Amino acid sequence: MTRNLEVLKTQYLKVDPESPEPELIKKAAEVINKGGLVAFPTETVYGLGADGLNSEAVNKIFQVKGRSRKNPLILHVSSLEQAKSLSSSWPQAADILAKSFWPGPLTLILPRAEGIPDAVTAGLPTIALRYPSSGIALALIAASGVPIAAPSANLSGRPSPTRPEDVLSDLDGKIDMILDGGPAEVGVESTILSLTEEQPVLLRPGGVTREEIEGALNQEVIVPDAVLSPDKPAGEDAAPCPGYYFRHYAPRAQVIMVAGEPEEQAAKVEKYLTQNRGKRIGVLATSENYSLYRNLTVPPFYLASLGSRSCTEEIANQLFSALRDCDRAGVELILVETVAPEGMGLAVMNRLCRAAEQQKI
Ligand code: AMP
Ligand code: MG
Repeated sequence: MTRNLEVLKTQYLKVDPESPEPELIKKAAEVINKGGLVAFPTETVYGLGADGLNSEAVNKIFQVKGRSRKNPLILHVSSLEQAKSLSSSWPQAADILAKSFWPGPLTLILPRAEGIPDAVTAGLPTIALRYPSSGIALALIAASGVPIAAPSANLSGRPSPTRPEDVLSDLDGKIDMILDGGPAEVGVESTILSLTEEQPVLLRPGGVTREEIEGALNQEVIVPDAVLSPDKPAGEDAAPCPGYYFRHYAPRAQVIMVAGEPEEQAAKVEKYLTQNRGKRIGVLATSENYSLYRNLTVPPFYLASLGSRSCTEEIANQLFSALRDCDRAGVELILVETVAPEGMGLAVMNRLCRAAEQQKI
């Protein structure tokens, strides 16, 4: 409990993501079983894992991340049976979704089983469950023999870590071990879907799209307004799920979204750069506009392409690392082009709205 002042030597292990070395996984599982913290790659982002059935270990996650205890954690499992054992009921929709998307980037909210520490669920009667597809994550969960509670392996509020160096820059010396399995595949967190109401509710868009879920269930998914309006003044109680209104995904630099069609966005960026000459402005552009910004009379201080707007998977994959790279480059203000909130674009816009705290030109 009093780990705040403790400085740990964080063990750094490079693991083969295709075929995780059993002896390395065993070492990591030992840390988990002793109540320690291990950062590990999942297909979405890097997670900060602890034994999900050990309250004391789970408490360390909140302490190290500076995470509010009102913000519940996801339990990660390595089999369908393990998932079922952690919820007190298993509706047909869960079966369909598990068959369609597990292992993979989908988290299901279900009634919780007994024996799960309150620290994990923030005292809620429900539990968030995910069966990830990353080989390292699966091997670690299986070797530790317990569900692993794992939020993203960053300091709360910062962009989620998609590369091992992002984890180190936030948590080196604060956690027991990091498994380096290279960059995360998806780059944004899992989709969170609640199955506790009559209709499924999308609490967070992520690696599985709303359209894919609706296709599998043959049923409409409710998408609360708050998914794209994180600044609603209603407060925590009116949020579709706990943790909703916490500041999220933000780099140190101020973020401003640039809305509109590509030509409109380009004109807005050019005007902004001209009017704010001398400011260290980073531009995160779609590939469609990227080359335009290289030839401006007042060029950006930093410029990166997030990928094509016709492939929002790519943009989702690049977003967090691009925000962190802006910080590393010493950018003061980041202009980011928006994309249509469809497919993976919904996850991109959900993260962007929060990182920008709704600021838009
Ligand atoms: P993170 O671990 O940071 O990716 O965030 C996990 C998110 O899952 C939390 O911020 C909550 O919004 C959501 N969550 C976890 N457990 C529950 C639950 N029992 N009910 C509703 N939402 C949940
Ligand atoms: Mg997180």
